[in-house]
Parts: sequence; structure tokens; C-alpha cells
Amino acid sequence: MNKNLKELIELSVIDKEIDSFNPQLEAIEKKLKKSQDKIDGAQSEIDSIKSSIDENVAKIKIYEEQIVTLSEQLKNITKKSKDVSTEKEMKALSLEEDIAKEKISFANEEIERLGSINEKKVLSLDDLNKDLEELEESQKDSVDSSKVLKSEIEEKKSGLFAAREAKINTFDQKILSFYEKIRNWAGNSAVVPVQKQACYGCYMKISDKSYSDVIKSEEIVTCPHCGRIIYIESKSSES
Ligand SMILES: [Zn+2]
Repeated sequence: MNKNLKELIELSVIDKEIDSFNPQLEAIEKKLKKSQDKIDGAQSEIDSIKSSIDENVAKIKIYEEQIVTLSEQLKNITKKSKDVSTEKEMKALSLEEDIAKEKISFANEEIERLGSINEKKVLSLDDLNKDLEELEESQKDSVDSSKVLKSEIEEKKSGLFAAREAKINTFDQKILSFYEKIRNWAGNSAVVPVQKQACYGCYMKISDKSYSDVIKSEEIVTCPHCGRIIYIESKSSES
């Protein structure tokens, strides 16, 4: 086999191996993102419950202030009623008193209602906080194990990069740039075997002339249809 072709096949194997780590790295990142999304979701739920508790507390405070004002009003009504002389004035005061009492009882009901809503919210907040804690704990573990995995992958990759460097140092630059050009569009199928007289990049049958050139392997042969570098897989490289 042509020496350059042999080198190209070997280089393409290294490139494929280097790229093969990308899906693993992506899967690691995806997993981390997924659990981070869960944490963010739990956190935003907690935040929204907290802010609705705060809103209720603020409402309760307003009702309490109203009760203070209304109680003051009731005291004044009692004072005034001592000096009232006509029945008309008496009725007016009594109406005022009824309205104030009604408002006080409404305010008390609301305070109670909002208070019990908040009690439930606080309970669900406890649960959510526990969930969040667990999520963060498991995220921490995932981050740690991802770091280990990633550094293992990076180590393997840098070994392959070193092998690649060593290989391309001895390469004919023209052939290397020819290969890189094909790789730009064909990716990891820049160098493909021919099987049953068909290119394994585009799966089209090649002519008898091209096929016999590939079998001879004296030159670097490209697929007449797609332009990929093609070769005949020897028994040893198949295994
Ligand atoms: Zn082809």
C-alpha cells in the first residue's frame, strides 16, 4: 500500500477516536444541565412561595392596622353617644358602629384565612427546602464524578493529540491539507473503505477503473462521486 495512504488511514483513525469523546462529553454536560434545571425549578418555586407568604404577611399587617383604627373609631362612637340628644343622631351613630364592627370582623376573618394559608405554605416550603437540599447534594456528587470523567477523557484526548502531532510532523504537507479539506465537509468519513465496489462514504458504486486503482493502492484514490479518500480494507485493519 502507498505509504501516504497508509498514514492517512491511521491519521483518520486517530481523528475519529478524538471526536468519539465529544458525545460522551456532551452527555455529561447534558446530565449536569438537567439536574441544574431541576434545582433552578425548585428554587424558583421556593422563591414564589416565599414572596406570596410575604404578600400575605403584608396584607395581615394592613388588616391589623385597620382593626386598630376601627377600634379607635368605636371608642369615639361610645364617647359621642353619651352626648347625643336626638334620635336621628343616635341612629347615625349606631349605623357607624355597625359598619365599624362589620369591618373589624371581616378584617379578623381575613387575618385568620391568610394566616392558615401561610401555615400551609410554610409546611410546603419545608418540604421543598428538603427536596432542594437533596437535589443540591446529588448535583454536587454529579459535578464531582463529572470532573473525574472529564479529566479521564481529557487525558485520553491529549494522548491522542500527541499521537496526532507526531504523525502529522512526518506528513507530506500537501497530502495533509488535501485530507483536511475533505475533512472540513466529510468530517470523520474523509477516509472510507470500499466494500463490494462501493464507496462507504456515499454508498455509490465506483467504476471498474477506480476499483482497480483502489485495489492496487499505489496512489491515493478518491471516490469519483463524493471525493472522499477511498481504500481497500486489508484483513489486518479490519480486525
Ligand atoms: Zn463516495
